Amino acid sequence: MKCSERLEGVPYEFGLERVIEEVRRLSAKRIVLQLPDGLKQYSHYIYDCLVESLGEVEVYIHGDHNYGGCDLQYGQLVFSIRPDVILHIGHTPYPGSLSNELVEPPRVAGVRVIYVPAQSKLEITNELLEDLSTLLQEKGISRVGISTTSQHVGQASKVSNFLALRGFEVAPPKSAPPYLSDYQSLGCDYRLQRGLKVDAFVYVGGGVFHPLGLYLATLKPVIKIDPYESRVTDLSAEGEKLYKSRLFKVSQAFEAKTWAIVVGIKTGQYRPWLVASLKKEIEARGLKYYMIASENLDRDSLASIDSPQIDAFVVTSCPRLPTDDYWNYHKPVLTPGEAFMALRKTLQPYRFPW
Ligand code: SF4
Repeated sequence: MKCSERLEGVPYEFGLERVIEEVRRLSAKRIVLQLPDGLKQYSHYIYDCLVESLGEVEVYIHGDHNYGGCDLQYGQLVFSIRPDVILHIGHTPYPGSLSNELVEPPRVAGVRVIYVPAQSKLEITNELLEDLSTLLQEKGISRVGISTTSQHVGQASKVSNFLALRGFEVAPPKSAPPYLSDYQSLGCDYRLQRGLKVDAFVYVGGGVFHPLGLYLATLKPVIKIDPYESRVTDLSAEGEKLYKSRLFKVSQAFEAKTWAIVVGIKTGQYRPWLVASLKKEIEARGLKYYMIASENLDRDSLASIDSPQIDAFVVTSCPRLPTDDYWNYHKPVLTPGEAFMALRKTLQPYRFPW
């Protein structure tokens, strides 16, 4: 069976022909497949395609959670499996300017990373686009910006073209290669959207983490067009509620005397420049901090590290932890931007995430 036939029913396009050519060119014999949890169910098709097309290769599916281009986890792999290539599927490279120089394996590690796009094949119907246009008109929105994840950039382009034809003023897409494609944002990087002179944003994709992050980063209305649920939803009220709860958390940390700085140790979540800046800010106020190195900060590990000596946490790894996972923890768990606000005892301007 041909690779293209094997992947026929899979709702994502991986462009595997190009990938197979690249692996062949590198003469790679040992390959690790990394996919986010939502795409892992398709890893077996990719595995079979690689083995059938390349013959004598050893392929591993990386079974651990994978959250983004920030999460290559190549360190342990290099010491154990020693792959020639990691196929990192569904994400673009993580920006080195937000992390550290080791976000890509150094040459001495002997492993190459190939980033493989996973483009959603779900259709955005005309009916859904009409719903979006109607909602924007009802809200008096005429200038829009677009935001999406890497898996939906094709659909975002369709939405953008439709809205432009309907007379909306759509802010032109600007990519930031190789990190961000047109319209793309990360849950920790909204640089393409921030600063656009628009009335509101249209978010193309599923879930709420990215669109609510977009709200926090821009404080502008966010309308979601969701190809999974085939639904258009105004998330602005939810965004505003989250924003207010974040301000409350910041104010709770105004009097914190001792901070716990959580230092991420995933490849792209280690941000020494940010940690240094937080330390400086805390020291300048005569306050105390503990440093906590953490790869996966779950609720149990947070609770076990916690003690009466700690008044507030600042998480430098991923903004999802403070805003999504631990928003209701009994002590403030803040993003770095919020921690700077708390240390300066100010609620304005709101800084998210860094
Ligand atoms: S939001 Fe978190 S998981 Fe997503 S790219 Fe940023 S650091 Fe990684």
